[in-house]
Amino acid sequence: MSNPPISNLNADPSEIQKFSDLAHRWWDPSSEFRPLHEINPLRLEWINNQVALAGKTVIDIGCGGGILAESMAKKGAKVTGIDLSDKALKVADLHGLESGIQVRYKKIAAELMAEEEPEQYDVVTCMEMLEHVPDPASIIKACATLVKPGGHVFFSTLNRNPKSYLFAVIGAEYLLQLLPKGTHDYAKFITPAELSQDIRNAGLHVHGMKGLGYNPLTKIYSINNDTSVNYMVACIRPV
Ligand code: SAH
Repeated sequence: MSNPPISNLNADPSEIQKFSDLAHRWWDPSSEFRPLHEINPLRLEWINNQVALAGKTVIDIGCGGGILAESMAKKGAKVTGIDLSDKALKVADLHGLESGIQVRYKKIAAELMAEEEPEQYDVVTCMEMLEHVPDPASIIKACATLVKPGGHVFFSTLNRNPKSYLFAVIGAEYLLQLLPKGTHDYAKFITPAELSQDIRNAGLHVHGMKGLGYNPLTKIYSINNDTSVNYMVACIRPV
């Protein structure tokens, strides 16, 4: 059975198109996706330090070409990746064939997946995706439904303030050209207070927050306590 058209879902068709147009370059570490390649080992270790991934069932929401999904599977997790970009999922599947790392990819909206497979996952990840959807609270609720009681949910997104505008839009898209122009819409950035509120409304408990910093001189990313631009939140679903 095919899914409803994207326009009926909690998704912005122009956002999905943007990622589809670039999808063939997803696994090129020098492409538009370089930032995702560079932050991946950091976020993977951050997640794995909180929930040893080996043997866990994991779902990655907005998995794109599968950079995080594959790396979690490589740690021994049983990973499902969902997205609404056909092209990104095709690239993810092909890469899995090449690497031999198995991930189950599926084109389905998070909210529908939550209806199909509630409380099935030890871990839910949803990274660099919330700032691209019309109603992030609805995605957060879906994540809270997908995770088992006692399980972990991880989000990352971009904060909204003058500094994040300067760094994530002007700096990354215009000055350093790390990302294509138009990658991010400042109005959709989410403050930690807003995200925490949505997380609490979904019945999850925030238990950790970290910043992801980029030093343009050394070109090195690091995890720190500065949540003013890119940040990650760890949550638990109470038992
Ligand atoms: N989470 C991955 C990819 C981030 S890029 C990572 O961090 O490596 C953002 C991804 O979100 C793209 O693949 C895009 O297709 C997907 N996306 C955007 N809106 C979506 C929606 N409403 N539902 C599912 N995926 C969505």
